[in-house]
Amino acid sequence: MIAADLDSLPPLREVIRAAGLSARRHLGQNFLLDLNLLDRIARLVPLRPGDTVYEVGPGPGGLTRALLKAGARVVAVERDPRAIAALSGLAAAAGPRLELIEGDALALDAAALAGPGAHIAANLPYHIGTALLMGWLAAEPWPPWWRSATLMFQREVAERIVATPGTPAYGRLSVLAQFRTRVRIRLRLPPQAFTPAPQVESAVVQLLPVAPAAPVPFAALAEATRLAFGRRRKTLRNALGRAAGALAVAGIDPARRAETLTVAEFARLAQALATG
Ligand code: SAM
Repeated sequence: MIAADLDSLPPLREVIRAAGLSARRHLGQNFLLDLNLLDRIARLVPLRPGDTVYEVGPGPGGLTRALLKAGARVVAVERDPRAIAALSGLAAAAGPRLELIEGDALALDAAALAGPGAHIAANLPYHIGTALLMGWLAAEPWPPWWRSATLMFQREVAERIVATPGTPAYGRLSVLAQFRTRVRIRLRLPPQAFTPAPQVESAVVQLLPVAPAAPVPFAALAEATRLAFGRRRKTLRNALGRAAGALAVAGIDPARRAETLTVAEFARLAQALATG
């Protein structure tokens, strides 16, 4: 019944035209209009019957439609009032399975809006993608309120999230993400997949929360990576300055550089810094 209603909605291009939803760069608006591609992304979300998906930035609603068709209940937060207006047809077709909230995702309490056990799925506005991810990774307690996160980033950010030690992309984001989640790039997309096409390629990353390898507070790890990667080209001895004594406690050679440390070694260093 709902699926039939969703199938009879006008094409996304028509929704955009009727609502005057011309893409605005400062809102990171690069829309996905290919329904097959949107279905593929929605199917990456490990949904079980009755699950909720928290979506940031539904825009004209392509991914939202695909998630609803896949059986999800969707809580969607959108900052642009023009998009909220454009989504009225979808809201009517979806009924109580879609909750639309006008607001800034950086300022809202996603855990309270989506509820425990929700999934996160979004074609993120690129200018705030990393900040949103950091917030979701910093959730306490852990495991967090979200069960999975399936997120479109610009490719360079996606590669930083999944990077391994000793590679140029490896940094704070890699360590913090991989400390708390299992990460994988699930899909790569060329600029032409979007309307308008951005300058860069994109990729969908999936993050699945795991129990951390060591009982280190996230804030301590965030501080350790900030110190160590703050001067990435220096040896850890120099990068840590007065705190370099923690390296011996953690059993890490002070002549190494931050980018060579594994996530487990960072956890040890964070523990030593926090207790030292
Ligand atoms: N989901 C749609 C799609 O795939 O076609 C739109 C994705 S577009 C990359 C990003 C969306 O996020 C836009 O609709 C934009 O208005 C919205 N947005 C930008 N900043 C936001 C914020 N701070 N909070 C919530 N939504 C935001």
